[in-house]
Amino acid sequence: MSKIEWTEKTWNPTVGCSIVSPGCHHCYAMRQAQRNLNMGSDRYAGTVENFRWTGQVNVVPEALEIPKRRKTPTMWFVNSMSDLFHESIGFDIIDQIFDVMRSCEQHTFQVLTKRAERMADYFESRGCCPDNAWMGVSIEDCARLARKAQLLRVPQARVRFISAEPLLEAIDFGLARWNAGGVSERPPGGLSTWWVDSRVNWVIVGGESGPGARATELAWFRQIVADCQTAGVPVFVKQLGSNCTDHKTRHPKGGDPAEWPEDLRVREFPNTARGIAPTESA
Ligand code: SF4
Repeated sequence: MSKIEWTEKTWNPTVGCSIVSPGCHHCYAMRQAQRNLNMGSDRYAGTVENFRWTGQVNVVPEALEIPKRRKTPTMWFVNSMSDLFHESIGFDIIDQIFDVMRSCEQHTFQVLTKRAERMADYFESRGCCPDNAWMGVSIEDCARLARKAQLLRVPQARVRFISAEPLLEAIDFGLARWNAGGVSERPPGGLSTWWVDSRVNWVIVGGESGPGARATELAWFRQIVADCQTAGVPVFVKQLGSNCTDHKTRHPKGGDPAEWPEDLRVREFPNTARGIAPTESA
């Protein structure tokens, strides 16, 4: 099982990445990749130096078929140690990874990217997304919500989700307005695809953890939870972070719901027929 509370297992057909936004600065995967390399894992060779990504991404051919060998229906987080839409991963490789998802109808795959522009380009050129893939964009502040989340409208996915982790400031998602928006606007960047059902179906929120974690405030979480509840969108509060200024916890990541105010103990999943979640409300 994965330690990430909103999934069951991780699947890494590629490893390696590069910092692309303020949310990446304390990237957990970057530190973990260095530890894995130091322990002799060759697949990380060239991807990290001194605990920093080099920008090299390695394809891991032996990992590609892993989901096919598992018959038990499972929720997989794709590329916890990379970003599927990293600029150095060719569309032909991404095709292979989505083909594996298509061939594994028993599973659900959660794809989360900080490179929403490239994700949109990919689906512009390739068309539809596998029925069992949930497509998400990761944002950390208001500027990125405005710019990136619009592009989440492009993939014709059964579930579209936003992960606000690490949450770096208060964000007004405006989900009720978003989900009522339908098809009245065109996507940015000259994209031509505009799907009829472009609602956001799920939100994850979490504070930063680890050394130097940036501050969070309870009000930021409350605002997002309230917004989701008003819009009827399931929300998963993952952790308050290691530096929640107005609510201290014993758990190093602020990740134990038992230590949170009761109104924030919300861990919901999208209501789909396929691949319902490992855990429900905390
Ligand atoms: S995109 Fe994700 S994996 Fe890549 S550096 Fe940023 S946080 Fe880390």
